[in-house]
Amino acid sequence: MVARTGSAVIVGVRARPVTVEADVSSGLPGMTVVGLADAAINEARDRVRAAVQHSCAEWPRTRITVALLPSSLPKRGSALDAAIAVAVLAAGRQVPSEAAARVCVLGELGLDGRLHAVPGVIAAALAVRGRSGLRLLVPEANLGEAMLVPDLDAGGVRDLDHLIAILRGDAAPTDASPQPLADPLTSGPDLADVRGQVEARSALEVAAAGGHHLSLIGEPGAGKSMLATRLPGLLPPLGDEAALEVTAIRSIAGQLAPGDGLWRRPPFVAPHHTASSVAIIGGGQAGRVTVGAITLAHRGVLFLDEAPEFARSVLEAMRQPLEEGEVRVARADLSVTLPARFQLVLAANPCPCGRGLGDGADCSCSSVQRRRYSARISGPLADRIDLRLQVRRPAAGALGDDGESTAVVAERVRQARERMRARWHGTAWQVNADVPGPALRRDWPAEERATSILSRAVARGALTLRGADRVLRVAWTLADLADRVRPGSDDIARAIALRGPEAA
Ligand SMILES: [Zn+2]
Repeated sequence: MVARTGSAVIVGVRARPVTVEADVSSGLPGMTVVGLADAAINEARDRVRAAVQHSCAEWPRTRITVALLPSSLPKRGSALDAAIAVAVLAAGRQVPSEAAARVCVLGELGLDGRLHAVPGVIAAALAVRGRSGLRLLVPEANLGEAMLVPDLDAGGVRDLDHLIAILRGDAAPTDASPQPLADPLTSGPDLADVRGQVEARSALEVAAAGGHHLSLIGEPGAGKSMLATRLPGLLPPLGDEAALEVTAIRSIAGQLAPGDGLWRRPPFVAPHHTASSVAIIGGGQAGRVTVGAITLAHRGVLFLDEAPEFARSVLEAMRQPLEEGEVRVARADLSVTLPARFQLVLAANPCPCGRGLGDGADCSCSSVQRRRYSARISGPLADRIDLRLQVRRPAAGALGDDGESTAVVAERVRQARERMRARWHGTAWQVNADVPGPALRRDWPAEERATSILSRAVARGALTLRGADRVLRVAWTLADLADRVRPGSDDIARAIALRGPEAA
């Protein structure tokens, strides 16, 4: 007899439904698994058999064929164990096949029959949500995670005996206890700790409001990391769907602790410059896609400290995600698109010796060394960076200045974002940093006097046309923060200053 049940596998950061079919027929005892199974699934045969033998049910002593469909989908990992057991038991008439057909089961089986947690449960829950009459059964340790997805019929399972009892109608799945949600919005470093950095704090506010990519150039110890780590706190908290997406990515990467709530705060990811290209961009072996730092930073901030030390190929590979908000990872057997819409913050020393800011009187680098150093980041990414800030160590007297707190600045950012949302309503753009220069120049010009300042700067060669577009984008953000209908000449002057001294 043939029986089937549902499960799911993770491809990239999404779950794809899988049907597990089992056929129990007369013949020599043995079990074959077909459907592009990797080594882990072949190991699953032994785990599933041992688990069933430790349960109240009997292992069919005949010929068993298990098919994992669609067969074209590469499958890996142990999350299909429980579904394979259910299909085999249903085909062997140990549990009702109608009950087996109405569930989607995830979980790795221990040899003793216990159901162990698996990564990617939120993604699977998102895939199952909305399919009526289908109940998601997950290991108890994953239940809190599944319950983060609303409108879902989900239950927890302790072990194989519990699963069999549920399918026979003799027991109920474990109910989700209300999650003690960790509120990530109350944590995080505060902007008030950054003393005496008036310019830098203000640039950070502009970056947060307009979604502008930012570079911080300054000597070691000037406070570049301190500034960067405070950016996520200034960004608006993630909405429901974005929070699910970001939390699902963490679950797939195995970075979600039991009891963790939804990620409401935009993530902050800071890969080291020695990290591999796969760790930063994503990639990996056939059928096994590793999520990189740029995907972990999706809807948040990617901070590259000592940016010129990153491999040129890695910086080059960021160009596509910066433009498209996603990265394509092509493997021999599968091409996967991973989300990667992040706000980039680069930090660098002004030169290899670190002392070349301003007049660079103490700098010991040659002009060739300095040029090569800054070219490493300005080459591949320069076009995408609207704000270039020079960060200096605050003067001793300025340390007493009381700066505004994260909460105060975040509120101004929220209001500026609302003005942007109203203006870009009906377009594909969310924040000013998304808007292409030609569209801005044509349809949303600055005040007349401001526009002529910009045109003159371009005419005398002080700004390239692309540079002028970046200035216009930032000027709009300054106007939004100050609640002006359109940028004036002060906004343009300030935006030119925020663009920094670097050549475009
Ligand atoms: Zn130097």
